[in-house]
Amino acid sequence: MAGYTPMIQQYLAIKEQAKDAFLFFRLGDFYEMFFDDAINASRELEITLTGREGGVSEKIPMCGVPYHSAENYIARLVEKGFKVAVCEQVEDPSAAKGVVRREIVRVITPGTVMESKSLADKSNNFIVSVGSVSTAAIGMAACDLSTGELYATSLAFNIDTLIDEINVYQPAEIVGDESLLAQLKEQAVWNRPVLLTSRVPIDEDKLRQQFEDEQLEGLNESRYRAVSLLTGYLEETQKRSLGHVRTIRAYEPNQYMILDHYTRRNLELTETVRDRSKKGSLLWLLDRTQTSMGARLLRRWIDKPLLNRSKIEERYEAVDALYRNLIARDDIRSELNHVYDLERLVGRVAFGSANGRDMNALKSSIRRTPQLVELARQAGSERLRQLVDGLDDCSDLADLIETVIVDEPPVSIREGGLIRAGYDDYLDQLREASTNGKKWLAELERREREATGIKTIKIGFNKVFGYYLEVSKGALGMLPEGRYERKQTLANAERFVTPELKEKERLILEAEDKMVDLEHARFIELRDHLALQLHRLQRLAEVVAELDVYQSLATVSAERRFVRPVITDQYNLVIEEGRHPVVEAVMDGVPFINNATSLRQEDQSMLLITGPNMAGKSTYMRQVALICIMAQIGCFVPAKMAEIPMIDRIFTRIGAADDLIGGQSTFMVEMKDIQLMTEKATASSLVIIDELGRGTSTSEGMSIAQAVIEFVHHHIGCKALVSTHFHELSHLEASLPKLANACMAVQESGDHVTFLRKLIPGAASTSYGIYCARLAGLPNSIIDRAYVLLEHLEEEASEKSPADAASATASLAAGASSAPSYAVVPESGMAFKETAAAVQLSIFDEPPAP
Ligand code: ADP
Repeated sequence: MAGYTPMIQQYLAIKEQAKDAFLFFRLGDFYEMFFDDAINASRELEITLTGREGGVSEKIPMCGVPYHSAENYIARLVEKGFKVAVCEQVEDPSAAKGVVRREIVRVITPGTVMESKSLADKSNNFIVSVGSVSTAAIGMAACDLSTGELYATSLAFNIDTLIDEINVYQPAEIVGDESLLAQLKEQAVWNRPVLLTSRVPIDEDKLRQQFEDEQLEGLNESRYRAVSLLTGYLEETQKRSLGHVRTIRAYEPNQYMILDHYTRRNLELTETVRDRSKKGSLLWLLDRTQTSMGARLLRRWIDKPLLNRSKIEERYEAVDALYRNLIARDDIRSELNHVYDLERLVGRVAFGSANGRDMNALKSSIRRTPQLVELARQAGSERLRQLVDGLDDCSDLADLIETVIVDEPPVSIREGGLIRAGYDDYLDQLREASTNGKKWLAELERREREATGIKTIKIGFNKVFGYYLEVSKGALGMLPEGRYERKQTLANAERFVTPELKEKERLILEAEDKMVDLEHARFIELRDHLALQLHRLQRLAEVVAELDVYQSLATVSAERRFVRPVITDQYNLVIEEGRHPVVEAVMDGVPFINNATSLRQEDQSMLLITGPNMAGKSTYMRQVALICIMAQIGCFVPAKMAEIPMIDRIFTRIGAADDLIGGQSTFMVEMKDIQLMTEKATASSLVIIDELGRGTSTSEGMSIAQAVIEFVHHHIGCKALVSTHFHELSHLEASLPKLANACMAVQESGDHVTFLRKLIPGAASTSYGIYCARLAGLPNSIIDRAYVLLEHLEEEASEKSPADAASATASLAAGASSAPSYAVVPESGMAFKETAAAVQLSIFDEPPAP
């Protein structure tokens, strides 16, 4: 350090406290960065790298950003996964002896941003903590600092389970015990960049300052550790009281349906596999919420389907009432439309970053409450009545804001103009003094024009000279010598002052200074007052969000003709005329072909589905899983009738969404998923495997597939849908009583094939792979050659074991003829020249989807 100037020494000392962050070091109107920070920041932010003398022979690398636009730069760095420590001058530079005192006032990290620029309205921004006190359990806590939500749970000591649970929150950042973080680093695949920071828990007495005893008492050891790790990190980075993070919502993981990371992705619950966009996901379909709070809650519901029948029924009851009551639904929607994001507003109040506009947004949202309560009460639902019963409408807080804040306050809280007249006597007096002063100035201007005969004399103001009288060069000759005191000369004018003007100026500026200070003080008082009432506003926000989700589910259910499922504690899963909610919604004019599902304990709990590619197998299997999930989040389902048992867990192994990020082969990923399934599935689970056994040699693949099917059948006994292109496996139906063959019907006419998208009993006879290849436009020479080879192979196979081949393939023709006729669905993107002929053979047996 020796040799550096005192300021650089100060910088280096502070940098020691923020080694893992960019240090934004306040110097006057800039935040400067030095040394490596400067080099890295200039690269990341594309700003100029300069140098500064620092007392040593070489210049110190430096770059900086103006303080007023710092938020943008900070947001960019945080978005890239960096931390930024903001270091301010904490004493008045004019009063400072030596180097101005500076301190880090806050560290902004990806998991703790509060700035609305960096936050998506409709999703949470979680930071997760993980900790363990023994090898038996892991504690996990998840907090969204912008809304104040805090969840805590504990899990059996298993890193995979932990990863699944963490993935529910899609955190931007994870903090906690070093050993756990090391394991996460090694094993986890996240679908967004995640920053890992190891930390130690906060002291107990500090933890108790943040949370009431009753909040902490309910926590077991591991949850307690997770919460104290998280609180420690929040304290260390935010350096302020977090009045909105007071409630710990502890839960057992088995309160909810378990969905591992792959299953969530495969089923496209909140984003699509292809481009990770919300559009095309289940969330996209179900999200008709009007508020951001509602949108976030809906996402959480989808992330955590319930396992508690009475809670599910409660949700159905509310959705049902709004489903039937179009008027109530519409009224609630339009009322909600005026409600701002209460949760985040509350967060900003607590954080001390709310401004006058936030206050008015709070006010106008609170003002909507009475109508909302009334609408909810009259909607005809017991659940909705309960929800709003005795709700504190916080109108006193809205009234208070109304008395204090003007209707259209400025963004800044430091420039005045935000406190309403009549609220503070002294402020009113100062305002009057300032207004009078300005009137006096206008009067002076008029008087001087008259006295001198110079019509262009005008009063002006600038920050350096204060108020002045300006006379243009041309008119100077008319000005009597000595009338004014010369202050400044410009190219074409002179500026003057008079003792009287200076005296008035002092009064005006003093009044304005005082006004600004007073307004700021009054505003902070209001904010502090509200900060003590946050729990009331948070409760209100919760109710609004839930109401919003009910109306959203009811709106989609009504528009898309979903029905209320019957949820049971039994085994059987029965769906009549089920549809895939999202595929149906994007089909655009073409009817979606519905399909039944009947998985029963007594006769068939497993379906082995064969059939050509593109026949609709995977759509069908996903549809069953989605219907179960929708039913368990409390939504109506796309079917004519659905009887849904409580599914404790869904496993999917679906080809298309292979996770190659981890560098594993498709086959290895498949085997790992299956391993997990064999270990964790219970009789109440639902297993979905698409294309079981591909990715290795035919005989191996088939053997593994059969062995897995047998295992599920004998040892797990859960409901399962398995598709395979090994038609040979269909003989299993004979030996496994709970397994039934099914296939997707196909209409053949001449050498044309039409996919009917209808699930029928029996096994498919061929996969039409070569046919699909032809549709895809492969050269005829290849197609012809392939048919020849196929014929050859088939001959060989039947010579080897004629009996097997016969029993392995049930006649498709028999299956198809016993089924009714089906709609023909021309494939988008593929040229079905054959459709015209095929259409004549088919009848549209259901109305087109809406
Ligand atoms: P497979 O898994 O058998 O290869 P998919 O399930 O991927 O087939 O279906 C292929 C395409 O067929 C889907 O993208 C969809 O557009 C269409 N499709 C699937 N099922 C239906 C259905 N029941 N009704 C209408 N179109 C369907």
